[in-house]
Amino acid sequence: MGRDVIMREVGLRDGIQGFGEFMPTEDKLRWVRAEADAGMAEIEVTSYVPPKLLPQFADAEAVTYGALAVEGLTVAALIPNLRGAQRGFELGVHKLNFVMSASETHNQKNVRRSREASLEEFRTIVEQAKALPAERRPVICGGLATALGCSYEGSIELSEVLKWVGKLLEAGADELIIPDTVGYASPALVKRVYAAVLAEAGNIPVAAHFHDTRGTGLANLCAALEVGVRHFDASLAGIGGCPFAPGASGNIVMEDAVYMLESMGVRTGIDLDRLLAVREILKGSLPSLQLEGAIARAGLPRGFAPATLAA
Ligand code: ZN
Repeated sequence: MGRDVIMREVGLRDGIQGFGEFMPTEDKLRWVRAEADAGMAEIEVTSYVPPKLLPQFADAEAVTYGALAVEGLTVAALIPNLRGAQRGFELGVHKLNFVMSASETHNQKNVRRSREASLEEFRTIVEQAKALPAERRPVICGGLATALGCSYEGSIELSEVLKWVGKLLEAGADELIIPDTVGYASPALVKRVYAAVLAEAGNIPVAAHFHDTRGTGLANLCAALEVGVRHFDASLAGIGGCPFAPGASGNIVMEDAVYMLESMGVRTGIDLDRLLAVREILKGSLPSLQLEGAIARAGLPRGFAPATLAA
C-alpha cells in the first residue's frame, strides 16, 4: 500500500506509561495486531526500563516478542540508557528510540545526568549496535526532547537545538525524533525548527512528536508536513503525555491525525474505520482511561473519501 507519510503509534509506550493500572499483556498485543491490520506500519510497543520504575512495562519482553510475530510491522521500543539498548539487542527489536533533552534541566530531571553524559551513552549504544551482525542490528533513533520548549527553562534557542541535533547525527543516529514534549509549540515555531533540523539531517529521517496540551497539536502536524516532515508520532485516543513535565498531557489523537491527512490527500496507508474500532480494545481493557478524539465523537463526514483507499 502506498504511503506519503509514516504514522507511528506511541500509545502503548507514551500513552500508558504513567497510567496507574497495568494493561494485561494480551490486551496490549491485541491492540498491536489490530492496528497493524488497520495498516499501521510502525508501533513503539514498550520501554526497556526497570519494572520498578515503570511497572506498566514489566512485560516488555513478552510484548516485544508478540509484536515481532506480526508480519510487516516495524517494532520500536524506548530506551533510557545503554542497559535498555542491550535488552533491545537481545530481543531483536527493529528500532530503539533513545531520548535525551535539549534542555539541561529537563535532562537532569528525566534521566538524572547531564546532556553530555546522555550523548556519551548514545555514542556507546550506536557503537555496540554497529558491532552486531547486520540482520540483528536495530535502527537507532536519537530523540531530542524539549526541542520546542521546556517547562523548566521555557523556550529553547534554535542554535541550541541544532547543536544537539548535530551531536546526535555525529554520534551516528539512523533517525531523529524531535518532540514537543510539553506542548509549547505553535505552527510558526514548528516550521522554523523542523525546517532547520531537516536541513541539518540531510537523508536521515526526522520524526515529529506533538502534544495537544494547548490545542495546537494538529496545526503543528500540518506545519511540519508543509516543511517536509514525513514521520509522525501519535497515540490512539490521544492517551499519554510526559510524566516528568508538569501539566504536559495529551499526545495528538492518531485517528484525528489520520483523518486530517487523508482528507488533505495525504496517504497514511491506514484504514480509518478499522483504526477507530481499535478504541474498543482500549475501552474494554482500561475502562477508567480517558479517551479523546474528535472523529470518534463526531463521526466521519458524509462522502468522506480517504486518500489511501482512493489510490
Ligand atoms: Zn508524547
